[in-house]
Amino acid sequence: MSAEQPLIADLFEVDKRLTLKPVVDFNAYLRNVFADGPCRCHRCLELNGDESGFSHRHTFTFDDRTVHRRFANSAGSDVLQMLKKAWLSYTKNELPLAGQLDLDTVRTFTDAALHARLLALLPASGLAREVEGAWMLQAQVD
Ligand SMILES: [Zn+2]
Repeated sequence: MSAEQPLIADLFEVDKRLTLKPVVDFNAYLRNVFADGPCRCHRCLELNGDESGFSHRHTFTFDDRTVHRRFANSAGSDVLQMLKKAWLSYTKNELPLAGQLDLDTVRTFTDAALHARLLALLPASGLAREVEGAWMLQAQVD
């Protein structure tokens, strides 16, 4: 028996919540909601990729790779559904649907490699917007 064993058990206890299916699904969703290459929707093609007039971005760069978000499943209500399930299973509480989003908590169950995608998707989907450093949830028409 080693003195390190209880510590390892503690870590495992914390990590176990990250293996809950809704949490795994949320991370998979963040990974898959962006597709390779710049957006080629009608508007982007017409404007030659100039998004300066867009309220919600279409094309992003992560780790020097250009990607675009898949519109079919990246509306604010889509992100909210995934986030709500992951939040409930991880925190055992319902996600508050108005006011400030507790992004620190969301980050704890989001793979670090996906944090940039999370931060890009929140405003692009219309789910939340940053107001003076706080992420405020937006009402979703579902
Ligand atoms: Zn586009």
